[in-house]
Amino acid sequence: MKSFSSSFPRLFSLTERVVDLLCPPLCIVCGSFPEWAEDLPECDPSAPERLLLCERCRRTIVEEDHLQCRRCAGPLAYSCSDSIGCGNCKKEKFCFDSAVALGEYQIPLSHQILSMKRETSGVSAETFAALLWRERKTRLVAAGVDLVIPVPMHPLRYLLRGVNSAEQIARVLAARLGVACKTNIVRRFRWTVRQATLSGNLRRTNILGAFKVVPRRRNEIEGKTILLVDDVMTTGSTCNEISRVLRQEGAASVHVAVLARTMVHLGIPVLRRTGRTAEQKSPTE
Ligand SMILES: [Zn+2]
Ligand SMILES: [Zn+2]
Repeated sequence: MKSFSSSFPRLFSLTERVVDLLCPPLCIVCGSFPEWAEDLPECDPSAPERLLLCERCRRTIVEEDHLQCRRCAGPLAYSCSDSIGCGNCKKEKFCFDSAVALGEYQIPLSHQILSMKRETSGVSAETFAALLWRERKTRLVAAGVDLVIPVPMHPLRYLLRGVNSAEQIARVLAARLGVACKTNIVRRFRWTVRQATLSGNLRRTNILGAFKVVPRRRNEIEGKTILLVDDVMTTGSTCNEISRVLRQEGAASVHVAVLARTMVHLGIPVLRRTGRTAEQKSPTE
């Protein structure tokens, strides 16, 4: 059945403007007035959603693209456009080719993501995905992606939670890239201890062998460039393990896209630019 907004778009738009006039929308982070706020393009016309973010909050949440490491999505002190990697990752052998994130998993982005996952916020994963697309479109397009794959949950965890935010983000990015989003290629076969409770090295062993490519789907990834999507990346162990499996099964290359990455790269806590040590805790890994 068609929604009200898609059946009567003009009337819906007019009603929305009247509501905005009577009750002005505010920035979701700081509650500033609408003249500072900015509408995101709707990610799905049948389900109009807006992320109102003022320019000041956007700058806090979104890291400048040229100050983000191309390999691990970590912060750079100086502008860098090559793929050599930063001080935290250049000695690492990643199975993915690049990583992109909106910014650090710290306040206010961390609060927004937690609210999104607990569904206590009016902002959905799809809306954050639209923000990620707008901010990192050039790099996502340049990757030449053939297929988008979200980091899968264990079926039991999926049953308990009812939703996989990685999948919600992946669907928006795939639609914007004009490629398919496949949720049935990689499976989480093994139940793992929550990564958030483990240190860097234990995360790697914990996740080893947890994912497999479904044998009859192997031909769908052969020679393909894949965008692997998650909500938060901590040490990168999960994304690295899935990338390893995908490459082993014939994928040509794997790129990673996440909403946020923590500063605990490669199991080594590093200093934030604010001078504080990073939170060890991630909501997903
Ligand atoms: Zn704001
Ligand atoms: Zn790096």
